[in-house]
Parts: sequence; C-alpha cells; structure tokens
Amino acid sequence: MSNIKVAIRVRPLTTSEATLDHQLTVHMGVNNTVHLHNPAISKTSAKYGWSNKRASSQSRQFAFDYCFPATDGSSVSANIASQEKVFEELGMPVLNSLFDGYNACVLAYGQSGTGKTYTMMGTPLELGLAPKLCTAIFERIASECGCSNVHLKTKRPSFRIEISFMEIYNEKVRDLLDEHSNRDSVQLKIREHPQLGPYVQGLSRHTVEDAAAALELLKEGVLRRSSAATHKNGHSSRSHAVFTVHCTAAWVTGDGLPRETVAKLHLVDLAGSERASCNPVSRLRLKEGALINKSLASLGNVINALAEKTSLSKGSISTLNTSSSSTSSINIRSVQTTPSASPRRSQASFIPYRDSVLTWLLKDSLGGNSKTFLVAAISPSTHAFKETLNTLRFAERAK
Ligand code: ADP
Ligand code: MG
Repeated sequence: MSNIKVAIRVRPLTTSEATLDHQLTVHMGVNNTVHLHNPAISKTSAKYGWSNKRASSQSRQFAFDYCFPATDGSSVSANIASQEKVFEELGMPVLNSLFDGYNACVLAYGQSGTGKTYTMMGTPLELGLAPKLCTAIFERIASECGCSNVHLKTKRPSFRIEISFMEIYNEKVRDLLDEHSNRDSVQLKIREHPQLGPYVQGLSRHTVEDAAAALELLKEGVLRRSSAATHKNGHSSRSHAVFTVHCTAAWVTGDGLPRETVAKLHLVDLAGSERASCNPVSRLRLKEGALINKSLASLGNVINALAEKTSLSKGSISTLNTSSSSTSSINIRSVQTTPSASPRRSQASFIPYRDSVLTWLLKDSLGGNSKTFLVAAISPSTHAFKETLNTLRFAERAK
C-alpha cells in the first residue's frame, strides 16, 4: 500500500442533468467502496436477455481510502458541510504535515466539469481546500506563537510563509503571480539545485503576513489563469495549476542552537483527464492532447511506481524513518535521492519523475515522508460513465 491516499469525490447532478433525467451511475457503499454501474446497459441487457458477463462489464466495484458522496445539489448549506468534511479529512492532515516540517501535496484529478476546481478553490460561499488552508495556516501560527505577530522574537518558533502560484501548459511553466506572465515570451526554465532538487527559475515567491494577503494572491492567480488573452476556449481545463505554500519554521533548541525546517505544500488543480482520450481537431490540439496525456500518464506512472516501491521496501521503512528523524525537508530529500547500495534495489525503486514537468517539479512532495492525497473527482451522470470508469481506474492504480 502506498503512502499516497486516494479519495473519490462525486459532484451532484447539475440542474440540467437532473431535468434531462440523467440517471445516477455511482453509489458509495460501506468501507469507502464505490459501485459504478451503467443503468442504461443493465436495462438493455435485461430487455434483450444479454448474458450476465456483458452486463457485469458495465458494473464495477472499487475501494479507496476516502469517499465523499454528492449532496443533492439543492442546498448551499449541504455543500458547505461537504467542503468542510473534505477539509477535515484531507486539509487537516496536510496542515499538520506542513507544521511538522514535511512536504505535502493534494492533487485534484478528473474529467472537466467534475469538481476539481470546486475541491481546490471552491466558490465564494463554499470555500475549497486552498482558501481554507490559507486561513488555517495563520490560525495555527497564531496558536503556536501565542500571538498573531509571526515575526515576534520569542523562544517559541517563528514562521515565514511564502506563496507561489504557477501554471503548466504544454510542458511550459508560467508564473500566475507575475503581471507580465501572459506574454508568450515569458516562459520559465526548470533547473535542478544539487541539494534542493528541481525548481522553477525566476518563479516569484511572495512573503505573506496574514491569511488575507495569502487569499489575495490566490484570487489574483486564479483570475490571471482564466483571463489572459492566450487562455480562451477553456484553456484552464487543459493546464495544471500549482499553488504552493512554503513554510519555514525557526526556533532555538534547549541547548541554545538555532534550528530551521522548511516544508512545502502543493495544491494542484490538474488538467481535465478527458483530453487523454479526446479526438483532436487541429494540430495544436493534437500536440496539446499528447502533452496532457503525457503528463497525466507520467503522474500515474510515478504514483504507481511509488506504490510498488512502498510494498517492496516495507521492511526498510523503519530505516527511512530513523535516518530522517529530524523533520527538515532537506533530510527528507536526501533520503529520497541517496542511491541505494544494491543495484537490484535501486532498479526496483526507480521513479520516473523526469518524464514530465509536473512530476519533476512535484518530486520532493510525492513519496518519501510527504503526505500526498489524490482526489479523483467524478460525475454521477450515466453520460459520463466511460470517463468515470477511466478516472476510477487511474485512482485505483495509485493505491
Ligand atoms: P472542474 O474543475 O473539474 O472542471 P468544477 O470544479 O469547475 O469542475 O465544477 C463544475 C461545476 O460543478 C461547478 O459549477 C461547481 O461549482 C460544481 N460542483 C463541482 N463539484 C461540486 C460539489 N461537490 N458540490 C456542489 N457543486 C459542485
Ligand atoms: Mg477546473
């Protein structure tokens, strides 16, 4: 079993889907099981007396770590409660991880229109993970420092919070917090630091003193993502948005030594997964589709390799934990990148991070001691049956 936890979230039927009488195809059972069936096929098979085999190929059962069922879609308060539940189950553990000095990552995967952005960003009334976490981070700092001034010099830890926000489109990186970034010429390069690993050269980092400033940056980046001239025609569903919170904690130990931990939290709203299977109509779309396909496939491969590595190296987990007992993320990185003494083991634990910009940049937040959640968003409508099945299969590979 991988250290990556997988959650499934079903959105409610939209009003038009409900009016057009789209049927429900997803049911959530006990122990986080998801039952997917295609009622249209089941009815047809009953009518024509098809064999059970054909009918059952349209009916599958999966089990995940978390399941978030749909509300009935008609009440804002039920939607708010469901956003709250997602925050409690996924947001709180990543918040704890960040304050323990470990990297963390939440990825929203799924077909366009299934609730990735709703989960990560939410709406003004039904806040998603990113705004809730921005607020919770400063609440935690206030409670850990005993006051709201994060720079006050006391023996308690002091924290520095920095934000960056980028978009990856066609394997190119754009800074969503740079006002000039909608010019095509502004394209950032990816470099590798010998100790700190891969990073985006020139990506802006903004120190924020309170939740309001963090929320302002989040809003600015979201707006820039959707409004730039080159980003029409649903561009945002074809790009990955990565909102990153860098948390540096500094304190003085009992023996008077200064200590510092650095940890990152990535919140990733991935490109719509349907592109992987769409019929491209132009050369641009063909290239775009191929690159989305490549980065989502390589994300799947990395997650899958991490899951296999975890099951292979079960016996060595305690060694990993001891060697990284200090919670510095630098230590975590050195645990991940130190070559194994045995060639057979190193072959077995090869993780293809370099296959896409997305996985390369998330390298130190996937696997190792990082806390990672994959939220697979799905539609409940029969019309989305095929894509829903693809999403559930992708999510199943991550476990
Ligand atoms: P995606 O980002 O995957 O393309 P969105 O997040 O934009 O999809 O969701 C599509 C629509 O469905 C939006 O209007 C959103 O508010 C709504 N929606 C998605 N998930 C939920 C949910 N769990 N509860 C209520 N409304 C939702
Ligand atoms: Mg979206």
